[in-house]
Amino acid sequence: MLRRFEVHRPTTVAEAIALRAQFGDDGAIYAGGTELLLAMKLGVARYAHLIDVKHIPALRGVSLQQGVVRIGATVTHWDLERDATIAKALPAFAALERNVANVRVRAAGTLAGNLAFAEPHADPPALLMALGARVHVEGAKGRRAIPIAEFVVGMYQTSLGPDEIVTAIEIQLPDAGRRAAYVKFQILERPSVGVAIVGAVQGGRFGDAPAVVVGAVDEMPRRVDTKSLAGATLRDAATADALATAARAAVEPVADLAGDVDYKRHLVGVFARRALAALAEAA
Ligand SMILES: Cc1cc2nc3c(=O)[nH]c(=O)nc-3n(C[C@H](O)[C@H](O)[C@H](O)COP(=O)(O)OP(=O)(O)OC[C@H]3O[C@@H](n4cnc5c(N)ncnc54)[C@H](O)[C@@H]3O)c2cc1C
Repeated sequence: MLRRFEVHRPTTVAEAIALRAQFGDDGAIYAGGTELLLAMKLGVARYAHLIDVKHIPALRGVSLQQGVVRIGATVTHWDLERDATIAKALPAFAALERNVANVRVRAAGTLAGNLAFAEPHADPPALLMALGARVHVEGAKGRRAIPIAEFVVGMYQTSLGPDEIVTAIEIQLPDAGRRAAYVKFQILERPSVGVAIVGAVQGGRFGDAPAVVVGAVDEMPRRVDTKSLAGATLRDAATADALATAARAAVEPVADLAGDVDYKRHLVGVFARRALAALAEAA
């Protein structure tokens, strides 16, 4: 059962930061509420004050300027899957967003909330990390831009300071010729494994070492060592074997309802191969 709480509706980022500082551990930022209200209902989180950021105009919208896509902190998964800029500039990310959760969660849940909650069984962090995305945050001491790899630091843990809020996520568009793909396996509400790959492809070969990140099996997304794949042919069994081996070595799976450690490591190898095939198809 939900305990009583008070909702505050700031209309500027500065106001939200001040409220965050004022309430400390007794307050939380409230966006779509899809994780927060569930956690409060289950009694695993207790807050007397919720700071609803949905009324802050500066946190809205998707824009593209000078090759950088900016996604405001109150943009939902539903907004992202239908956004024309995302569909054109980052089709792999649009496809990922179409397959997050269910339509009810996508309609209310935000990308910023997904990242800030740092639930390990998540889709966006792996692809965003492979794309080199950064989380923009603002607090009493000013603004910082944090690479995803440094933002998600553990299960339900981020590097967000106690008085900071996420204002936006920014993604530098990949150079021409660089392609991206994301594949996942899911039997429960959330993914059991997700593999993202971003690589420059010329004449069926990798121009350099692709960025490969495995998500959802571990405490946080893990980058795969792909140095040996620079120049490798995409549609080649040896390339697929090398990637699958490197991906399995990169993770320390956590056993849970989705499977045990060996099973999850096996899945990582299978889905690393599928990610490579998807990239070859996209190229
Ligand atoms: C049934 C179900 C299925 C799901 N399936 C998937 C799935 O398949 N793949 C997947 O990736 N995810 C999945 N999710 C997670 C989903 O993506 C998140 O619930 C959603 O994105 C959270 O966003 P929100 O706006 O509702 O966050 P909220 O619930 O409002 O907040 C979540 C947390 O983030 C903090 N927060 C929110 N916004 C900010 C901000 N701007 N600054 C600082 N802190 C902030 C809050 O304080 C809170 O701690 C699923 C969730 C549910 C409930």
